[in-house]
Amino acid sequence: MVGVTENVANRIVIYQSTDSKDIISALNRENYLVEVLCINEFDQNILRKLNSSLVILYFTLSDAAALEICRQISADSLLADLPVVFVGTSDDDDFAVRAFEAGGADVVGQPFAEKEMLSRIGKHIRQYKRLYNLKKMVLVDEQVKNFQSLRENEERHHAFFDTSADMMFVKSDQLRYLMANKSMAKFFGKMSDEVLNKTDEELADKKRIYPCKSSDEKALKTKSAFTVVEKLGDRIYETTKFPLRLKDNKHGIGGIMRDITEQKMVEESLKAERALLRTLIDNLPVSIYVKDNNCRKIVSNITDYQKLGFSSESEVLGKTDLELFENKDGLKSYNDDLEVIKCAKTILNKEEKFKNSDGNWRWTLTSKIPLIDENGKVTGLVGIGRDITEQKAANETIQKLSKGIEQNPATIVITDVSGIIEYVNPKFFEKTGYTSEEVIGQNSYILKSDEMNPLVYKNLWNTISSGGVWRGELRNRKKNGELFWESATITSIKNEKGEITNYIGIKEDISAQKKMEAELIIAKEKAEESDRLKSAFLANMSHEIRTPLNCIIGFSELLASGDFDETQRHEFVDQIVGSGNALLHIINDIVDISKIEAGEVTIRRTKIPVLTIIRDIELMFRHRIESKGIHLKVNLSETVRNSVVYADYERLKQVFANLLGNALKFTFEGTIEVACSKLGENLEFRISDSGIGIAPHDHDKIFDRFRQVETSYSRKFGGNGLGLCITKNLVELMGGRIWLESEVDNGSSFYFTVPSE
Ligand code: ADP
Repeated sequence: MVGVTENVANRIVIYQSTDSKDIISALNRENYLVEVLCINEFDQNILRKLNSSLVILYFTLSDAAALEICRQISADSLLADLPVVFVGTSDDDDFAVRAFEAGGADVVGQPFAEKEMLSRIGKHIRQYKRLYNLKKMVLVDEQVKNFQSLRENEERHHAFFDTSADMMFVKSDQLRYLMANKSMAKFFGKMSDEVLNKTDEELADKKRIYPCKSSDEKALKTKSAFTVVEKLGDRIYETTKFPLRLKDNKHGIGGIMRDITEQKMVEESLKAERALLRTLIDNLPVSIYVKDNNCRKIVSNITDYQKLGFSSESEVLGKTDLELFENKDGLKSYNDDLEVIKCAKTILNKEEKFKNSDGNWRWTLTSKIPLIDENGKVTGLVGIGRDITEQKAANETIQKLSKGIEQNPATIVITDVSGIIEYVNPKFFEKTGYTSEEVIGQNSYILKSDEMNPLVYKNLWNTISSGGVWRGELRNRKKNGELFWESATITSIKNEKGEITNYIGIKEDISAQKKMEAELIIAKEKAEESDRLKSAFLANMSHEIRTPLNCIIGFSELLASGDFDETQRHEFVDQIVGSGNALLHIINDIVDISKIEAGEVTIRRTKIPVLTIIRDIELMFRHRIESKGIHLKVNLSETVRNSVVYADYERLKQVFANLLGNALKFTFEGTIEVACSKLGENLEFRISDSGIGIAPHDHDKIFDRFRQVETSYSRKFGGNGLGLCITKNLVELMGGRIWLESEVDNGSSFYFTVPSE
C-alpha cells in the first residue's frame, strides 16, 4: 500500500531554478499556500514534512534537474501520489514525453495562460485529495484491524512477560528500568511499577548487583546480543543482554536473566563427580576403556593407552582394536568386542596375550561388559583389563620352584616358626614311611631319636631362630622305628619385613654313606690290627721256628757227640722228629694261608663216606688224646652213619686236624667229642672239648689271621694263630660254614657243615 501523510492541505511547493513571482502571485490570488524552494535544495524528507498537495517544478533550461526531482518524488512510497507539474521552457521538443515518463502529472509551457494553468492545478489537487481520502479510509480500516491484533499480541506478550520465571527487563541508556516483569521486580523484592525508572544501584545493595553495570554498558555499546553468567550475591544468573532502539530513537538495552544457581550446582557437582570418576579411573592400575557400538574407543584411561604404547588418550580415541594392534591380536579382541555388542554378551576374566608397542609380550585378564540403554539397545561396551604378566611370570616361577621341591631327591620339610610341619615333599614320605595326614600339623620332632646329643638340637634352634643356616647330621627315626642318618641344611624363610615366617629343612639320607664310613673305620682298624698282629706274628713265628730248630740242632749235636746210649739216642731222635714235624706244620700253615689269600687253593671234591673220615681222624688222634689222659668220644647218629660228604678229602682232614689239635691243646682233662648229625642237605660236624673255653667277645676274632686269644694259655701253648683262619677258609671253600659255642672254663664246641651230596 502507498503510504500517506497524516494531513493534506492546499499547499503547493514550488522548486524554482529562476524567479517564479508570476506564478506565485497567481496562486496566492487563488488562496493556495505556497512554499518556494530552490531546485538545488530538494530533500524528500523536507518535502514529506511539508504536507503539500502539489509540486511545481519551475525551471528554465535546467530541465535535467527538474526531471530528476520528479523521478525521486515518484519513487518515494510516501510521495508517489503527489502530482508534479512542470512549468517552464525547454529547447527539447520531447521534454513533455520525458516529463510524463519521469512521473510528472502535467507540463505547462512559458509563457502560460494564467487561467488555464490555475484550472489544471486545481484539477490535479482535487484528484490528489480524492485519492488521499480513499487511501485514508482503507488505511483506517487496516489500522483498526492492526490495532486489535496488536492489543491481543500485547496482552499475550504481557501475560508471557509477567508469568515468565525468567527475569525480563528493558533499560534506558541511563540504565533505568523502562520495563521489568514480575520476576525481575521480585529480584529486588518489589512490585513491577516500583522498579520503573530506577537504576540497579537505587534498587539493591551494590554488592548484590555489582557485575550488572559493566555488562549493561557493554550492551549499550554492542550491536548484537550476548550472554554472560554473573554471580549476584550468592546466586548465579545467566543473562542475555541486547541493544534496543527505543521509540524516541534513543538507545536502550533489553535483557533476560535466569537463575541458574541450582543448575550450576548440579553441573558443578556433575563436573566434580565426572572429574573424580576420571581421576579414579585414570589412577587405577587397570586398563579401563569404553567403546561405542562400532567398537571404537571413546574413553581410554592412562593405564590403557600407556599399555598400548601411546602417550595420550586422543591418540587412541575413535580407533578400533584392528587399528590399535598391528597383528592378529587386534582381530581376536575386535571379534570379542563385536560379540559383546551384537549379542549383549558379557566376557569375564578372559586371558589375552598380546604384543605391546615395545614388542614385549604381555598377558591381560580382560572383562567386557555391554552398555545397554533404557530401550534395551546395546550402545557400546566397557572394558576392564588387568595386566597379569608379572603374576603369570611369578606363577611360572612358583610352578618351577614347586616342581623342583616336589621332585627333589632330597627330603624337604617346611615348618612354621614353632616347628609345626606345614609341608613335606613326596621324598619325605618315601624316606620316613609317614603319610601326609600323620605329619602335617605335627612337630618336626616326630623324627627325633634319642641317639642325638640334646646340645645338637639346642645349637640347631639357636642358629636358625637367629636367621642363620644350620648344617649338620641328624640320626632320626622312621615311622617303623628304624634309625637313619640325615645330612640336613636348615634355614629360615623371611617375609618382606625380614621377619621369620617359616623354616625349611633340606635333608639327604646318608645312612649308606655312614655305613660305608663305619665299615671303612672298621676296615682301617682291622688293617691296623692286622698290621699289629703281623708284627706279633713275626715275633711269635721267629720264636715258633727257632724253638724246634734249636731243638733239632741241639739234639743233632748231642747225637753227633756219640756219648749216649741207645735209649737216649732214640729219645734224641724223637725230639728231632717232633720238632721237625712242628716246623713242617708251621711251614704248611704259612703256605696255606698265603695260597688262600692269593686265591690259589684248589678244592677237589669227592664223595667221602662219613665213616671213612671219622676212622682216619680217630687213627690220627685217638692215641695222642688218650695218652694225655683224655677220653675221646665219637658220636655218630644212625642217620649219618652211611652218609657221605662231598668234599676235598685232604682238606677235610686238615679241618679236623686243626680243630682236634686245638681241642687237645687247650684241654687237660675230661672228654673230647667228635659228633656228626644231619642239617638239611648238609652234615654238621661238632668237635667239643672240656678245655679252657673262649670268652664270647673273642668268638669272632679267633677266625682272623694271626689271632690268638690273649691269655696266658695261648702264650703258654704257642701256636701261630693261623689254624682257625685256614680252617674257616677251607670250610667255606668246600661250601660249608663254621661257628662255635664256648664259655671260659667251660669247654668249647666248634661246629662246621659240609655238603652231604
Ligand atoms: P694256634 O695255632 O695259635 O692255636 P688257632 O687259629 O688254631 O691258632 O687258634 C687261635 C686261638 O684260638 C688259639 O690260640 C686259642 O687261644 C684259641 N682256641 C682255639 N681252639 C681252642 C679251644 N679248643 N679251646 C680254647 N681255646 C682255643
